[in-house]
Amino acid sequence: MLQQNIKYEESRDPDFARWATEQTGGENIRRCIQCGTCSATCPVSSYMDHTPRQLIHLAREGFKKEVLSSFTLWLCASCYSCRVDCPKDIHVTDFMYALKRRAMAERVYPKRFPIPVLAQEFSRMVQWFGRVNETIVAAVMFLRTDWFKLLGQTGLGLKLMRTGRLSVFPESIRGRSELQRMLKAAEASKEKEVASR
Ligand code: SF4
Ligand code: SF4
Repeated sequence: MLQQNIKYEESRDPDFARWATEQTGGENIRRCIQCGTCSATCPVSSYMDHTPRQLIHLAREGFKKEVLSSFTLWLCASCYSCRVDCPKDIHVTDFMYALKRRAMAERVYPKRFPIPVLAQEFSRMVQWFGRVNETIVAAVMFLRTDWFKLLGQTGLGLKLMRTGRLSVFPESIRGRSELQRMLKAAEASKEKEVASR
């Protein structure tokens, strides 16, 4: 067990460490004093594989694999408590978002864990239709993570459909192509901003 916690110099990725400090929320991570206030104030840190304090330290040292495959990114509830209490004004929550985006881009997120899959399907639906259809998003999420659970939820789903709370047909907004152009432009602008740092 102790062996797993030992980190070796050769596992470090200096490019990742540099990248981390260039992200929104990551600008100040070198100032982190490892006081642990973020971990203490975090309502879900006891469920995380790396506490927010540990994650900040691993990221700034370049332990890319541990950081990007960590469940912590996906358990973070974006409550901003850590950011408010950090004595060094480190924007931990924003940094978590940057790490999530990178984990998705590199496809190294925990594949059968529902939260990243849900985020991916949610974003895909918004890009296609401009709106989210809960039935389709939930069904795809269960199919990709644990399709047994889908069977268990079928009764509830049918009840919700009968009462008009859920629909199987996706709705689309008007001006869908304009939305898609806007999203592409925002993505390109973000990539340009990151490249210019
Ligand atoms: S509260 Fe701030 S300074 Fe303290 S460990 Fe967390 S990020 Fe670092
Ligand atoms: S924003 Fe995330 S990491 Fe920070 S305290 Fe809230 S749940 Fe924990």
